[in-house]
Amino acid sequence: MKCPFCGETDIKVVDSRDSETGEAIRRRRECLICGKRFTTYERVEVPPLYVVKKDGRREEFSRPKLLSGLVMASKKTRLAPSNLELLVAEIENALRSQNITEVPSREVGAMVMARLRELDEIAYIRFASVYRSFKDAQEMRATIEDVLAHPPGTRPDTARRQRKRRDTEGRELPLDLGK
Ligand SMILES: [Zn+2]
Repeated sequence: MKCPFCGETDIKVVDSRDSETGEAIRRRRECLICGKRFTTYERVEVPPLYVVKKDGRREEFSRPKLLSGLVMASKKTRLAPSNLELLVAEIENALRSQNITEVPSREVGAMVMARLRELDEIAYIRFASVYRSFKDAQEMRATIEDVLAHPPGTRPDTARRQRKRRDTEGRELPLDLGK
């Protein structure tokens, strides 16, 4: 690294700390030649992840955008913002752990719906109505009837396992959000 003032490369780090958001490390550096100080930031390089829409358009995966869709669907339900933030983080982590650069939007939607269905029926149906863009009342009724026939927790095995896992993660949430 070159000193921005004199161009020399003899630099020492005088201070190193996390930035306010915790997403970068901020370093104060001092040039050993001219004595001037400057700041550098070190960030994790996250490769972009694109969501491919039905019409083929690609859009960078956006945590805030997914969250706002979920907030809309969850109005006046028992889902708290922290539940939704956790859900979005889970989805993003699941996608990023696959080391992919693109994901079809329907796959993201299916992941959201599978989790939402376990959490809150109303939010699930609302989200499904937007995401699947129900063509008519008949389609919506089919979804509602399906939920009524298989309420959260009644499906064997998987439902119970997922709920258990969520409880554990829920307790850890306050720690995660502080970072
Ligand atoms: Zn210098």
